[in-house]
Amino acid sequence: MKKSLYTIPLKGAGSAAEGVFQFDIDSHFFNRYEGSEILEAQVEVSSILKEEYGVIEIESFFKGTIVSTCDLCLERVTFPIEFSNLLLVKSSTSEECDDQSEVLYITKNEKEVDMAQYFYDLLYLSLPVQRRHPTGECNLEMLKKFEEIRVDRSVDIPSPFEKLKDIFN
Ligand SMILES: [Zn+2]
Repeated sequence: MKKSLYTIPLKGAGSAAEGVFQFDIDSHFFNRYEGSEILEAQVEVSSILKEEYGVIEIESFFKGTIVSTCDLCLERVTFPIEFSNLLLVKSSTSEECDDQSEVLYITKNEKEVDMAQYFYDLLYLSLPVQRRHPTGECNLEMLKKFEEIRVDRSVDIPSPFEKLKDIFN
């Protein structure tokens, strides 16, 4: 298996090597995930690792841009992002449960934390619910084409009310 570029080293025995870790997330990162709705990315991540009372805390700051598909015209649309997120890393024998933060469980003898899936999930969640160009910036040619298709279809497909009429007649 190819080694992940997005790991944070641990000192072993669940203990952390404190410090700041920098990651660059680019389009290659998302190419590894089949069917990813993020098509391109240029995101810098700073992860600050601390250890307190045997719990490892990793606070990550994300800043950059991600590119997805516009819901209306299907062209690429860029979204700026800037947010931070706290991840707790606990050894899997730990019993307490913290609902406030995201928790990643590792085994006692793990030497590093692989952040790749966590980064992917967070960036995916940071996509807006409605992925659209700002008003007036959609590709007009595409919009026109979709409108034509919609009109064609509405001719062919009888509305559900037509079918109901048949049933009641
Ligand atoms: Zn658009």
